[in-house]
Amino acid sequence: MFIDRLTNKLQIDENWQVDYRQALKENYEVSGHKKDVIVLHYTDTVLTSSVVAGFTKKVTKTSAHFLVERDGHIIQFLPANQVAFHAGNWPMNLRSIGVELANVGVSKFGKYVPECDTMRAKYPRTNTVSAWEKFRDPQLEGLVQLLNALVDFYPISTIIGHNQVPKLGRIDPGPAFPWSLILEEVQKKRPIEHTYPKS
Ligand SMILES: [Zn+2]
Repeated sequence: MFIDRLTNKLQIDENWQVDYRQALKENYEVSGHKKDVIVLHYTDTVLTSSVVAGFTKKVTKTSAHFLVERDGHIIQFLPANQVAFHAGNWPMNLRSIGVELANVGVSKFGKYVPECDTMRAKYPRTNTVSAWEKFRDPQLEGLVQLLNALVDFYPISTIIGHNQVPKLGRIDPGPAFPWSLILEEVQKKRPIEHTYPKS
């Protein structure tokens, strides 16, 4: 898996399912920017069809560059050097690549996933123990491949969660996300920070 030099699109890999679905022009900005941060999100949904439609069919003024499905299938929505509306912070949108992970976050009524697919963890800031959907192995494997392809091509120095963007009150990708495992995989390439960049 690698990023094409001319198109900034992830290349189809024999061993991995990668699709390109173009986001609506209202939902992102075409201009190219230097990318040195990756921001990880979860979709907050069981199904991803609404997320894909929200980027590609409806004017929502929201987008992310990539979505990684539970089975590891990757969809790209705009060239990775362009500006997705995902971080809730304009300077961060300009410099970052947004990656959505299919995951409901807290599994509750209306967003049900089987108990065996959840883990118990405290809800950030409230200390209430909740059931969080676990991230699946094929999804994490696809994510690692994607992150490695991005780190190979862009001058990425930092990978953070949406929850680390100040003043938004976001919690994604949440306490079920295995940060140490993922960072360890990507840091085989080079040192990567996991704190919000100071400048
Ligand atoms: Zn988010």
